[in-house]
Amino acid sequence: MTLADLGWTDALAAAFAPHAGPGREPARVTLQLKGFWEVTTAGTARLADCSGRFLNTTTAIADMPAVGDWVVIEPLPGRDDRALIHAVLPRRTRFSRKAAGEQNIEQVVAANVDTVFLVSSLDANFSLRRIERYLAAARASGAQPVVVLNKADLTDEADARRAEVEAVAPGVPVVVTSAARRAGVKPLRAWLKPRTTVAFLGSSGVGKSTLINELVGEELLATQEVRDVDGKGRHTTTLRELVVAPGGVLIIDTPGMRELQPWQADGAVEDVFADLRELTLRCRFTDCSHTTEPGCAVRAAEADGALDAARWRSYQRLLREAAFEERRTDRRASQKGKTAWKKATKALRQRVQEKRGED
Ligand code: GDP
Ligand code: ZN
Repeated sequence: MTLADLGWTDALAAAFAPHAGPGREPARVTLQLKGFWEVTTAGTARLADCSGRFLNTTTAIADMPAVGDWVVIEPLPGRDDRALIHAVLPRRTRFSRKAAGEQNIEQVVAANVDTVFLVSSLDANFSLRRIERYLAAARASGAQPVVVLNKADLTDEADARRAEVEAVAPGVPVVVTSAARRAGVKPLRAWLKPRTTVAFLGSSGVGKSTLINELVGEELLATQEVRDVDGKGRHTTTLRELVVAPGGVLIIDTPGMRELQPWQADGAVEDVFADLRELTLRCRFTDCSHTTEPGCAVRAAEADGALDAARWRSYQRLLREAAFEERRTDRRASQKGKTAWKKATKALRQRVQEKRGED
């Protein structure tokens, strides 16, 4: 396996150049654990800690390494299974969620994903609103979304559903599958190119594992075990979260990614609902509340059937949530956020010191 097989590009090489030096290598994060990481280079997987640079600066949680990140490592001399992480190279794309706790602090759950499959099932759990949320998350991430409507065998409405999704997601590919029956998955292979990174997003039970197995084979899950990850001789088995699948595509599959509760990024809502925002610009009054004002373009569109009322409500709700998050961020981020980060940093520093003591 070469670095290129892990997704290394010329652009990354250029970003690494200023960090180059004796004992420094690029590596990709293939697993994230509590406070430490597995990093993989052309030849080896190593367990890594972040260097002091991460522990005593004002680095935001969002800047800590995440699965899929390219990092600058220093393999520890005399320990071919250990390394220090000195820097995270700039991300091309990122999926984020709100970090645990009540502050609205961004935490990255997957980085450098090229294509994200937004998987829904065509059973009673189907929700156009949820798909819109996923699309907003994908837009915010920078990754290319592909909507997968699975369990087509459970409905007669697959074509109608597909049309609904296409209407809210102009330009986004929509693929209808019955993964468990091995039907309809072939078109997805177009996005499974060697050396590109893909991820699957969708509620539990919609068929993500079935799809992955169908696309890249059962052996994938069996070959990604990492043993003794805590390095204390304790027997632990953890699944690697970024794997090179047969055929060469890189698959990110983490619990955080699967059940992403997206961190509300600025503009993400507006992007998915660009047509609705445009519509509101046509109201006579710029501060129109779209309830009783004369010349309201929204109510006019609703009256003549051009506007889907449910989609309008969904837009309004997401806008309210985004505004709420923004106010919360403004109020708390400056003060409480710093306190939380100081606490986390202190705990991390303590843990690293303990570890060094043991070595
Ligand atoms: P995940 O939680 O998203 O990974 O979902 P799984 O892949 O574990 O699938 C959940 C359940 O749905 C399993 O029992 C699968 O066999 C079933 N399933 C997956 N794909 C299909 C499908 O196309 N049709 C039907 N009827 N069931 C499916
Ligand atoms: Zn209006």
